[in-house]
Amino acid sequence: MNEPFLLSNLIDLQEIDNEIYKIESQKAEGEDVVHLKELEIKFKESSKLLELAKNKLSDYFTQLEKDELDTKNIKQKIKNIDLKLTDKSLDPNELFNYTKQKQSSEKQLLKITNNIEFFQSENSDELMEIKNAEERIEELKKDLIEVSKKVQQDWKSLDIKLAESESRKKEMILSFPEEFQKLYDDLKARGVEVIAAYKLENSQCGCCGVDLTSSEMHKIKSSKYQQCPYCDGVVV
Ligand SMILES: [Zn+2]
Repeated sequence: MNEPFLLSNLIDLQEIDNEIYKIESQKAEGEDVVHLKELEIKFKESSKLLELAKNKLSDYFTQLEKDELDTKNIKQKIKNIDLKLTDKSLDPNELFNYTKQKQSSEKQLLKITNNIEFFQSENSDELMEIKNAEERIEELKKDLIEVSKKVQQDWKSLDIKLAESESRKKEMILSFPEEFQKLYDDLKARGVEVIAAYKLENSQCGCCGVDLTSSEMHKIKSSKYQQCPYCDGVVV
């Protein structure tokens, strides 16, 4: 408890910070995450292409909708006539009329069917484009689900590691004397990236890599917190 505080403890803390940074980068830039982001972009692009292709054919789709509704109505009409034709009590006149009506409806139906076929062949390239885009989107959806499941699993295990590192960090900071807790907080608050490192060979600051003169080094060593004048990191 009353052991003297060593500045090298700050380096241990920095190491835990490095671990945390590494885990966070893995979460943000891991292979699966990058893949997922790419898939999301492709999905948006394909959806946009599909929308454009459908917009180009908006007249066609309006006509198709109308034709399909007409087809449905005429089919129902023919069904009703068929039902009436089963009635044994029809007189020849009624029989003639219903048969006529049925023929005319069938003619209408054929005309609409031909119309639909004609418009389909007229727009076959565009329709193929739409079909391809829809298939592509379906595949992308499957991939998106699969990869996002993988990302969720990856994140689950990374979050466990992260929580472990965070709690070790907290524990370590709490074991520091208050003034060093404050020093750490100040440095972090000021955005100092590496808060502590050993001096490198050739008198370079281990935190920022700047070459230090012997008088700068002397000044650092004789100061209380041994901070580099360039990056404010603690040089041990
Ligand atoms: Zn420095």
